[in-house]
Amino acid sequence: MAKTVIQFQHTGHFWNDLGVIALWRWMAENALDIGKTSNGDLMAEFDGCECILYQDCLETSGDETDVYAVLGDAIEALTGQVAQPSKTGKIWWTGPSSLLYAGQQPNFLLRYEQLPKKTQWRRRGHCDVCHGEGHAVRTTGTAYNPLLVNVSRMSGFYSELKGGYQICQSCAFAAPFALTQAWYSWGDEFLSLTLLWPVGVDLLAVDRFLRQTTGLHIADNLRRNYKRVFSYANSTTACFLDLMCSSWTIIRNHTSADVLMMALAGVQFHAMQLSKPSKTSNVVNIDRYQTIPDPMGILRLVQQSDHISQQGKIWNSLISILNDMPVKRRGADGKIQADTNLLNQIADAIVARSSIEGILEQRIYEALDQLHTDAKIIEHFNVFAFRLFVPIYFKEVKYMSANLLSALQSVGETLGELVKITEDRGILYNLRNARNADDLLEVLSRVVVRHADAFIERKPELWRNRVRELTEFIDNNNWHRARSLLGLYAGLKFIELSQKSQSSSSTSTNP
Ligand SMILES: [Zn+2]
Repeated sequence: MAKTVIQFQHTGHFWNDLGVIALWRWMAENALDIGKTSNGDLMAEFDGCECILYQDCLETSGDETDVYAVLGDAIEALTGQVAQPSKTGKIWWTGPSSLLYAGQQPNFLLRYEQLPKKTQWRRRGHCDVCHGEGHAVRTTGTAYNPLLVNVSRMSGFYSELKGGYQICQSCAFAAPFALTQAWYSWGDEFLSLTLLWPVGVDLLAVDRFLRQTTGLHIADNLRRNYKRVFSYANSTTACFLDLMCSSWTIIRNHTSADVLMMALAGVQFHAMQLSKPSKTSNVVNIDRYQTIPDPMGILRLVQQSDHISQQGKIWNSLISILNDMPVKRRGADGKIQADTNLLNQIADAIVARSSIEGILEQRIYEALDQLHTDAKIIEHFNVFAFRLFVPIYFKEVKYMSANLLSALQSVGETLGELVKITEDRGILYNLRNARNADDLLEVLSRVVVRHADAFIERKPELWRNRVRELTEFIDNNNWHRARSLLGLYAGLKFIELSQKSQSSSSTSTNP
């Protein structure tokens, strides 16, 4: 009897490729035996059926009934994971599939051999996903790839799409498995969903990564399938940072940390945010889609941000900062509301490895305002985390010399102390309003004239020398960055001193 061979191709369509590798992960986890072929390829063995993972395809072969049985078990397991019976006994979507497949009937998840028996299918044709010929095909749609829109609607605009975009039996079978290997996080009262998934040059690279991370999925939280380490992450990049930070806190003490780092080197991440206008709507919008090119660089940054406290505990300055980025305000009803704008901005910047000091500066100025309006709300604002993280980030993305950074820190912190002693917040506002390099240096020199008394113990000479040092560094290219950093360090110092005086006054009133 002829062997039946079914191939699932790596196609470069990122969602479909995730589907193929997710199908393989199911095979690897459920096979009777896992081994290697004589050529060194990974093989999962079932009764009468061999599944082999190649760089560019997953191949199942054996007697037809045995191959169909394995694929049948796989789709049954998938159905159990993404759909469940409602109270009335009807099968319906559960978890993220309820948004991803809004409007689709769960019965599109069919056994491999049953797919072509449905009316939408034609006996054979060209597959626009894998470019295979001669297999059963149907017009594809969002069910097989959320990035595809209904072609019948599109073809009105793009005449070359007439005739439809077709998907073959293999590609259609594998695609829905993708969801089982994606990370997800719900937002906006379950009306928006962020999906994150790894993309590799080939199937093996993604498999290596997923093998290291399957243990990091959690099942006991309805909102997301990974542990959260900071609050209010609701954009694609913030969720991605949350995932990386959380993975790091879980594996940092394991020997597998290096293995994960290596596995990450072989993949990029894709992130997609989908939403629908209301609970009952079947309209699904894609709000954002983006590529995260260097996840390993991000994990390395997270790793560099680990510190050991005086009590010997490990803590992480990046996680602390991300936790402090949302600006919290008390609403009229007394409830805390968080504005996540700055969190989203810094997450975008970190993922793009672009500058962050302007965003941090804004956050510090918000905190300074809140010191006056609602000091309690920033009681736990972690100034040390900001101070520790800035040089780590600058070193990692290599965009400012260490010399300049320490000079700016020293001058900035003296400014912060002066503001605290003299109560002259005008210094900070003048600093913030500096519009060019000369302006900035002028603001710094004026400080000593205005507050000579406050300098008596602090030696104005020292100050003059430091400002002179900066004069040599600051030019028309870097003055803006320098201004942000001065404001940042001055603000941090001021907040730190204010927090100290608050806690000492509260301890003195409490016996
Ligand atoms: Zn295909």
